[in-house]
Amino acid sequence: MLRQAQKILKDYFGYDSFRKGQHEVIQNVLNGQDTLCVMPTGGGKSLCYQVPALALDGTTIVISPLISLMKDQVDLLRANGIQAAFINSSLTPSEIDETMMNVRNGEVKLLYIAPERLEMDSFCMALSQLNVPLIAIDEAHCISQWGHDFRPSYRAISKVLKLWNTKPTIIALTATATPTVSEDICQVLHIESEDTFITGFARDNLTFKVLVGENREKFIKNYLENNKNESGIIYAATRKAVDSLYELLLKFGISVAKYHAGMSEAERNDEQNRFLADQAQLMIATNAFGMGINKTNVRYVIHYQMPRNMESYYQEAGRAGRDGLPSECILLYSPSDEQTQRFLIDQSRDPSRIPLELEKLQRMVDYCHTEMCLQLYILQYFGEEVEVTCERCGNCCDERPSVEVTEDAQRVLSCVVRMGQKFGKTITSQVLAGSKNKKVEGFRHLSTFGILKKMSAKEIANFIEFLIAERILLVHPGQFPTIYVSEDGKDVLLGKRKVSRRVQTVKAVVKQDDP
Ligand code: ADP
Repeated sequence: MLRQAQKILKDYFGYDSFRKGQHEVIQNVLNGQDTLCVMPTGGGKSLCYQVPALALDGTTIVISPLISLMKDQVDLLRANGIQAAFINSSLTPSEIDETMMNVRNGEVKLLYIAPERLEMDSFCMALSQLNVPLIAIDEAHCISQWGHDFRPSYRAISKVLKLWNTKPTIIALTATATPTVSEDICQVLHIESEDTFITGFARDNLTFKVLVGENREKFIKNYLENNKNESGIIYAATRKAVDSLYELLLKFGISVAKYHAGMSEAERNDEQNRFLADQAQLMIATNAFGMGINKTNVRYVIHYQMPRNMESYYQEAGRAGRDGLPSECILLYSPSDEQTQRFLIDQSRDPSRIPLELEKLQRMVDYCHTEMCLQLYILQYFGEEVEVTCERCGNCCDERPSVEVTEDAQRVLSCVVRMGQKFGKTITSQVLAGSKNKKVEGFRHLSTFGILKKMSAKEIANFIEFLIAERILLVHPGQFPTIYVSEDGKDVLLGKRKVSRRVQTVKAVVKQDDP
């Protein structure tokens, strides 16, 4: 069977060998095992179901939420001589009938459908008449309510699997599953844990950096000056930020495109096409841009503000360097980004998801403050068991010396304890700085009031973020997040554990130039 897969890879796709992980996943699927494949964006997930689809008799169903991209995917397959089709709301009823007839006649090896279709009884009836050896569930994190993009219609998949006497094999694929999300996908789809393949999250050609307190506009101008002919993406958190940055860079004569959900579909398509065709060097966009985009020569992805969670960050940053050449992923962080994201989370449609979203936001903030290898942080976040540092990222290459800050950490921790572990980092910083702010007047009697007055409240807040990233302090997320001392923190208080931190530069805490 695998020999056949190898031949399909060569004959249809023109590749000589499978990539790390593809081989194992395809073998498992061809053995009839339901499989979960977690691979980063650009890792080569599509082949993991396309190759088995061509090796098996019948029509493989591909469930994909990306309606706008189905046509492109199908066109690409057809260009490789593969019989593929799609059914979604962009087709007329007679086009759908015609496609279904082609499927019944055995003329379609891969049929792409939107998940909403599975909620239609008539469509399920038609499916049940077909010979379906394999169902591929793309963007499978949408099935999990712990994922960052839960789609209720994905839950209909479980029901659909019962349509046939012989259940088709399932392959669920995603680029962004934390261990919790992976477990949830497995539970919903009854996939055994040994059939989960998490592979190659490390993107060895990507260099991650977090820059704190940069003047963002100045940074972007300099960066573009030094990367004149390279293709890149800048992600900003809001439409307003995209618009204003776009105007600014236009003035500087940069060939730039923009993309956000406030633009018409035609405008968005035009802008996207200009970028894909290298007519625009730079794309400035909100997170609405990029799903399924296969532009290989993106040399850098800059986040103008911190995104709301690590899943989004890695997915967006991962659009750099799909061709395997060295590329940069830079995050420009300012403490005010957290407020922006909190505001966006508060506006979210489903209030029951807010606590989870805030928890994820905290891990994102931690990424901006950690001193560990950034690649390692990402890999561990996604559940890969690795310890090797990348030796390329901003933290691995940080040459600032480390100094011991155990005593200052103890001062912060004891202040948190004296304040009853019931307050947030801003108030705590002001108490430690001995601020004249009326809000902290009630804490003047504490022995820790002003105990860190050698630092400004902003510097202390930054230090507290560092202690949170080190898991010395923990956060109770919520509308008014509060900080408390962890078990590790207790060891620091008892003098059983030392704390070191890189020497801080002044700009880490200066006010930002927010757009
Ligand atoms: P994903 O869906 O995981 O984001 P894709 O399936 O789109 O990634 O694959 C990313 C790119 O890698 C595509 O251009 C694809 O053709 C290429 N690719 C996938 N597998 C291989 C392989 N075995 N050898 C060479 N290129 C591959």
